[in-house]
Amino acid sequence: MSTCGSVMEPIGYFQRPNGEYVIVHMCLGCGFERFNRIAADDDFDLILSLSAQVPRTSYEVKAQRLEALLEKQQEQWDVEEAG
Ligand SMILES: [Zn+2]
Repeated sequence: MSTCGSVMEPIGYFQRPNGEYVIVHMCLGCGFERFNRIAADDDFDLILSLSAQVPRTSYEVKAQRLEALLEKQQEQWDVEEAG
């Protein structure tokens, strides 16, 4: 369960530099991503049937979001300055 209470859906997986596999769950409500290490009792074939994702950390995802937000804000400032 995510913070907004929506359903988390597995959208893909990636492999960390240390060889560890991680499943990416995304919230269908707000797009929040969570990374779960694959446990020994997880169905590995099922995981590999998901789409392969670019390896990332939650820190990177947050930074990307912040960047997108700043870009949007910058556009708004540009419009205000032009007006
Ligand atoms: Zn959510």
